[in-house]
Amino acid sequence: MRLQDKVAVITGAASGIGKETGLLFAKEGARVLLADLNEADGLAVRRTIQQAGGQAEFMRVDVASAKDCKAMIQRAEQRFGGLQVLFNNAGIMDAEDGDAESTSEEVFDRTLKINLKGVFLGCKYGIPALRRSGGGSIINTASFVAHLGAATPQIAYTASKGAVLSLTRELATLHAREGIRVNALCPGPLQTELLMKFLDTDEKKQRRLVHVPLGRFGQASEMAQAALYLASEESSYVTGAAFNVDGGITAAYVTPE
Ligand code: NAD
Repeated sequence: MRLQDKVAVITGAASGIGKETGLLFAKEGARVLLADLNEADGLAVRRTIQQAGGQAEFMRVDVASAKDCKAMIQRAEQRFGGLQVLFNNAGIMDAEDGDAESTSEEVFDRTLKINLKGVFLGCKYGIPALRRSGGGSIINTASFVAHLGAATPQIAYTASKGAVLSLTRELATLHAREGIRVNALCPGPLQTELLMKFLDTDEKKQRRLVHVPLGRFGQASEMAQAALYLASEESSYVTGAAFNVDGGITAAYVTPE
């Protein structure tokens, strides 16, 4: 098993990428702390893992709260005896997020607080725990929009993801010699609730797909496979990377008809 004896914390674990990653990490032998605001769905993920013979706990966590993030890391160490993998994945895409003129300060602040500060707080409390465990892997979920501007605007979200990518590079540089690797997972457009709610008409969906060489939305399970690689020893020489798992969207200038 690829994560045997490892302890992993996953935020945003009740749904989408975080859920699929929790299921996969547990299958690969990790003991997983599932963290999310959504208690009902988070507990359901825990049940599925336990029924399959895996080890998981759920904790209600708001990643924008320092108190919650500190408690989350403490819980993983106390319950499972250490921390080797931290997946800072929770994020939001606000339906009211638009261009600079139309986006309210409130939407901008809320988006940055969860998508960026949430990652910062995970790292703030997670890095000392990874050090105590002799090193490990941090994976921060950014997005392809950290690289590219979108014509369907979401300015707060895009800004937050660009910042996650630069934060990741700097932390990777700072902590490499301590055996702590830090990488950004940059998913392309996925068939998850989060994006489908935002691209809420066929026209908006098609407008996005026109740019994807593989011609379809990605699946959360495909992101989980990428997270597994970054979490495991197979990626031992990978740090500071923007790992694009995006159907080719960041490679394309013109896509096939
Ligand atoms: P999702 O909505 O299915 O899952 C996000 C989870 O985060 C939810 O369970 C939600 O309850 C949780 N969450 C939201 N705010 C939280 C908070 N303050 N504290 C704790 N948990 C919170 O979405 P997803 O597509 O799985 O998104 C996961 C990550 O991937 C996000 O960071 C998102 O920005 C990123 N991403 C998604 C896409 C896409 O197309 N869906 C593309 C690129 C990047």
